[in-house]
Amino acid sequence: SKSLAPAKPSGKASQAGSLNYMTEFFEWSGELKARMREVFGIQKFRLCQEGVCNASMDGRDIVCIMPTGGGKSLTYQLPALLNPGLTLVISPLISLITDQILHLREFGVEAVMLMGSTSKEESRDIYSRLAAAANSKNRNGLAGPEIKFCYVTPEKIAASKSFTSMLEKLANAGKLSRIVIDEAHCVSQLGHDFRPDYKKLSILRQLFPRVPILALSATCPPKVLKDLLTTLRLKPIVNGTAATADGTVYFSAPLYRKNLHYTVAPKPSSASGVIKAMTKYILDHHRNDSGIVYCMSKKDTETVAQGLAEESGGKIRTGVYHADVHDRTKAELHERWRRGDVKVVCATIAFGLGIDKGDVRFVLHHSVGLRCIKGIDINIFLRCLNLWKVTIRHVYRAANHPSILTRSLLNQESGRAGRDGNDSDCILYFRPQDASRLSALVFMKKLTCGFDHEVQDMLRFAIDVEECRKLQFARYFSMSASLSMSAWGTAETDAHARCGHCDNCKRPPEAMERRDVTLPAWQILRVSQVIERMSGRVTMGMLADLVRGAGGGSFGAVVGGRGRGKGKGGAKEKIGLDLDEIAGGKVQLGKEETEILIVQLFLSGHLGESFHSTAYSINVYVTPGPGALRITRYSKEDVESGRGQRIQVTFLRKGKDAAKKNGRSTKTGDEEASRAYSSGAKGKKRKRGE
Ligand code: ADP
Ligand code: MG
Repeated sequence: SKSLAPAKPSGKASQAGSLNYMTEFFEWSGELKARMREVFGIQKFRLCQEGVCNASMDGRDIVCIMPTGGGKSLTYQLPALLNPGLTLVISPLISLITDQILHLREFGVEAVMLMGSTSKEESRDIYSRLAAAANSKNRNGLAGPEIKFCYVTPEKIAASKSFTSMLEKLANAGKLSRIVIDEAHCVSQLGHDFRPDYKKLSILRQLFPRVPILALSATCPPKVLKDLLTTLRLKPIVNGTAATADGTVYFSAPLYRKNLHYTVAPKPSSASGVIKAMTKYILDHHRNDSGIVYCMSKKDTETVAQGLAEESGGKIRTGVYHADVHDRTKAELHERWRRGDVKVVCATIAFGLGIDKGDVRFVLHHSVGLRCIKGIDINIFLRCLNLWKVTIRHVYRAANHPSILTRSLLNQESGRAGRDGNDSDCILYFRPQDASRLSALVFMKKLTCGFDHEVQDMLRFAIDVEECRKLQFARYFSMSASLSMSAWGTAETDAHARCGHCDNCKRPPEAMERRDVTLPAWQILRVSQVIERMSGRVTMGMLADLVRGAGGGSFGAVVGGRGRGKGKGGAKEKIGLDLDEIAGGKVQLGKEETEILIVQLFLSGHLGESFHSTAYSINVYVTPGPGALRITRYSKEDVESGRGQRIQVTFLRKGKDAAKKNGRSTKTGDEEASRAYSSGAKGKKRKRGE
C-alpha cells in the first residue's frame, strides 16, 4: 500500500480559520469513500465520522464523542487502511475486542490481539511479525500479511515492558501509525467507569511523542474531558473541528438519537401492577417487536420475565439474561433472540455490551438507575460484607478489579434501541420511592469510588415533567454550549431546539400545574427534624405517610440514642407524633405528590439521607438536610404569608388518562411503602426466596 500525499494545505497553521475537517474536501477524500464502500460495505458517513477520518489522515490528536452505536470504530479502521503501518487499539473488554477482530477479519483485514490469556506461541508469532515489519524497509519477504490492527487491554501497556519496547521499535521505524483509546472516559476518576489501568496510559505520549492519539467515548461530560486531556497529555482543544489550530481536535455528535422516543412513565406501586402496565404497553405498542427490559437485580430479571409471560398468556416470549446465567445458555439466548424466538429479554446491564441487533424497538427500564455493579449482585455483595467480615478496603480493591465495570443508564442502555435508525421507544418506569433503592446502590459505589451527584442527576431527570429530554441529555452528557457549537458549526439551532417527540415535549400545558408547596415542605421538614431529634429512622415512604397522618402517625426509633444501639438492631420503640403540635396539621397533598415533594427537597438539599446496612440490605432513611433550617426557621404564619424562601414544584395534573391507565392504587401503595425497605428480618425472608 502506498502512502498518500499530506493534507492539501501543507502549512496547516498558515490558513487560520478557513479549513474545517467536517466540511472540506481533501486529497484522500475520494479514496476514503471508495475504501469504505469496498471494504466495509458502508455507503455514507454518519455523524462526525468523515471529520474524524480527515483529522486522522492529517495526523492530528483527536477526541471523538459519539453515542453508542454511532460508528466510532470506522473512524480509525478506515484511515488505518489508507496509512502504512500498525494501529494500536486499547479497549477495556475482551468481548468487545473479540467482536472487532472477527468483524475485521470478515472484511479481510489482518487484526490480532494480545492479552493476558494469549498463548506464548501466539504472542511470539505476533511479536516476530511486528519485529519484521519494524525492520523491513519494504514489505517483501514478510511472513504472513501485514498486521494492520493490534488490540490490547490497558493492562498490557502498563505491565508489559517487552510489548512497549516492541512498539517503540515500530514507532522509530515510522510503522506505528496511530494509537486509539476506546472508552477513553475510563481514564478519569470523575467519570462513571474509572479504570486504574487506564490512568497508566499517560505514558503513551511519553513513549511515543510523535504518534497521534485518538480518544473515543460515548459519554464525556466536560470535567471528564478536561481530566482526559490532562491524563493522556494531549494539548488543549483549541478550535473544535478546525483544521488549522495546533491543539487537539474535538468532535462530538449529538448524544441523543432522533429515532429514540424517551418517556418517563409513572410506575405502579405494586410489583404486579408494574407487570400489568408493562404487559399492556408491550401488547398495545410492540406486540411483534423485539425489546429489552432492563432490571436492577438478577432476581428482578427472573420475576419480570415470568410475570410478562404469564400476564400476557404466553403472547410475550421472554428470556432472562444476567451475569450468573450459564455461558452456554447465554449464547443460546442470543441466538433465539436474533431469530425472534425470544422477543423480550429481561436483563441486567450485563446484557447489551457488544450486541448488535438493529431492530430493538423498545427498551423499558423496570427501575430507575440501572447501575448495578457488574458481576456482583448488590445483595450478594452485602452478604459477603457481613458474613465474611470483608472490610471497606476489600471492597475498594474489588471495585478496582477490571471485571467490575459500570455503565451509565440512559446513554448506554437506551443506546441498544433502534440501531437500524427506525423509531424506537425508551421508557423509564419511575416512582419516587425508587429513589431510596437507587441511593442504596449508589451508596455502595460511593464507598468504593467516591463519586456523588449521580442519584441526584438521575432523579432530577425522572421527576422533571417539563424540559425536553434531549436537552436534558445534552446538558448532562455533552460539552458546554460554546464548545459543542464550534465543534458542530451549523448544528447550533439543532443543539438548542426541543426534540418535539419525547414525553415532555408532547405534554400539553394543561396537563401540568406549578404549585407553591412551601407550606407542606415546611411541615415535612419540621417532622423530619423532630424524628431526628428523637433518634428515629424513617424511610421516604414512611415519612410521606407520617406527614399526611396516614399509617397510625407513629414511627420506630432505636432506643439507646444515637449510634450505639443495644447490640443487634437495638430495641425498637414506637413513638407517636402530634402533627398538630409539630407541623400545625397534616400535609394536604396526595401520597404521590408528597413523595415527589420529598424527592424535590432531597435534590435541593433541604432533606438528606442516612444509610444503615443490615446483613441483607442497605436501608436508606430520610434526614433533615443542610438546607432545612432555611425553611424551618420561619413560623407557620410566616410561611403562609409568603415570607422566606419559596418552594415550587410542577406536578402532573391527575388527568383521566395518565394515572388511571397505569392502574395505580393508593392503598397498595401504602402497604408497599412499609414493605419496600425491609429491615434485616424481612431481608432474610427474601433471601430464602432467591
Ligand atoms: P460504537 O463503537 O460507536 O458504539 P460501532 O463502531 O460498533 O459503534 O458501530 C455500530 C454499528 O454501526 C456497526 O454495525 C457498524 O457497522 C455500523 N456503522 C458504522 N458506521 C456506519 C455508517 N456510516 N452507516 C451505516 N452503518 C454504520
Ligand atoms: Mg465501540
